[in-house]
Amino acid sequence: MAEEDGTPQELIDQLERLRQDYLARLPGELDALDELVRKMVAEGVSVDHLASLHQRLHKLAGSGGTFGLPALSLAARSVEQRVKRLLDAESSGVDKAYLQALASDIAGLADAAATPGSAHFHPAPTESVPVGPSCDANRIWLVNEDAFQGRELAAQLESFGYEVRLFSSLRDADRAVSIEKAPDLVIMDVVFEVEQENATEALNRYEDLKGLSSPLLFVSSRDEFESRIRAAKLGAQGYLLKPLDVPRLVNRMVQIFEHRNAPPERILIVDDDQDLAAHYRLVLMAAGMNADVLDDPRQIMERVAAHRPELVLMDLHMPEYTGPELAGLIRQHETWDSLPIVYLSAETDLAMRVDAMSRGADDFLTKPVSDAQLVAAVRSRVARSRQLDAQIARDSLTGLLKHSAIKEAIEVEVSRARRTGKPLTVALLDIDHFKAVNDTYGHATGDLVISSVAMLLRQRLRSTDIIGRYGGEEFAIALPDCELEHGKMLLDDIRRRFQDIRFTHEGQAFICTLSAGVAAPGQSGMLSGAQLLNNADEALYVAKRNGRNQVCVAEDDPRRSLSL
Ligand code: GH3
Ligand code: MG
Ligand code: MG
Repeated sequence: MAEEDGTPQELIDQLERLRQDYLARLPGELDALDELVRKMVAEGVSVDHLASLHQRLHKLAGSGGTFGLPALSLAARSVEQRVKRLLDAESSGVDKAYLQALASDIAGLADAAATPGSAHFHPAPTESVPVGPSCDANRIWLVNEDAFQGRELAAQLESFGYEVRLFSSLRDADRAVSIEKAPDLVIMDVVFEVEQENATEALNRYEDLKGLSSPLLFVSSRDEFESRIRAAKLGAQGYLLKPLDVPRLVNRMVQIFEHRNAPPERILIVDDDQDLAAHYRLVLMAAGMNADVLDDPRQIMERVAAHRPELVLMDLHMPEYTGPELAGLIRQHETWDSLPIVYLSAETDLAMRVDAMSRGADDFLTKPVSDAQLVAAVRSRVARSRQLDAQIARDSLTGLLKHSAIKEAIEVEVSRARRTGKPLTVALLDIDHFKAVNDTYGHATGDLVISSVAMLLRQRLRSTDIIGRYGGEEFAIALPDCELEHGKMLLDDIRRRFQDIRFTHEGQAFICTLSAGVAAPGQSGMLSGAQLLNNADEALYVAKRNGRNQVCVAEDDPRRSLSL
């Protein structure tokens, strides 16, 4: 159901229509409440009446604020609480005067509904909302007043695959701001003193660059509070000290881009109030997320399996099944037992809240929940859970998949390729004479070389490619939808770029090289992931034996694949 939605502006229009629909239906809903309570006054009270009254008031209290009527939410909540007490007491004999007071308060809900709330918040339709996959970020502006240093750094960054535009002054960069497409990142390597004569002018230029809304990194030789705070004020996302450690700079850049290009959060919404569910969904979509509403609780596992949510936004109180009950059902399935569940609950649901908490609720949002609160809570929860997943599956030095995770991922790709008939290339890379790097420059420098290969791979490969640290200085990758020949060229390009990276240790410069072996399922198409890795390893061995710093292709010998 998410497919028909378009631009952020369209989503906001839909939200407005939803609110108008709600407001149009509201008088009818209030009349129905009125009629119900009058009937109770006239005919006497039954548990069914009370339950129905409670259900309607509960829904009103939960939704009013979201659709711009906070006064209605408050008033409905207060009446709801009183009805709840009557329900809990289970006594059929309700005092007539008490009922009449209730009826009069219910009649008063119309006044509360006529009290407009504060300006309704919707996430602003910004260009930066990442809807769908984003293209790779690689256009860098480098502002460096020292022409020689600037060219050096630009060349280093280019070997990591970035396209660098070098400006020799802040003025030149400022001029480009108004006429050129904003870069993906700006790196500032300029001395900036408040005492300088042209300080104000420089500050204005910084402001212009900041207006680009491209992430900003500072490179400086000053490790002083004043300089750092100035960078922070300009919104810099990093401050690197000279002498510049280029792999560390690239690492920061990769982190910024990966964060920006993170795929949309996948959310499943479970709420019996269809208006509210539709509203939440549109709000989350407008914030760039991918949200889905569960219409029938009986379908919950099918929907979870199909949508693969990263978080479930679950109403606590629903007529047929409670939130914790549905959550319990989800948690019976091993695959989903750590799926974050955030409950939407009214203050009146205290006992249920405690129950949900004891069953591992991740968070509670109190209805009516504001759009901003909803987006912030969902986003931060998903971010934390992604971080945790990454910590478990990823290697800490390189941020790549660990040995067992990459092997599993390659098996998944192999069966996918078999199913779709699309090509696949698998490769193993190994740094040449790495022991000598450790022995000559120390283990820490060796680590830096390892992480540089990782960053080069992350920068050069597509987001659908799979990259892992297979062993100490060995890497495994899978390139879905990539022919063997093309995979070989890609690896060769990476190999060439790697030999262009200049490492330094105590002022001494050195370079490293790598070798790789590539393999594909080939004609038989029946190889397992482990067999493919084995073939790539044999090709890697050939590359090493032939003198290293080269890429070799595994032979596609159908007889061999069949006999395996
Ligand atoms: P070849 O060209 O044949 O690949 O030679 P090599 O020296 O690279 O090969 P070898 O496999 O003998 O050496 C790998 C070295 O990598 C041995 C090990 O100490 C080192 N190593 C493994 N993991 C790490 C790590 O995390 N950090 C560092 N600095 N070194 C590591
Ligand atoms: Mg090696
Ligand atoms: Mg090795």
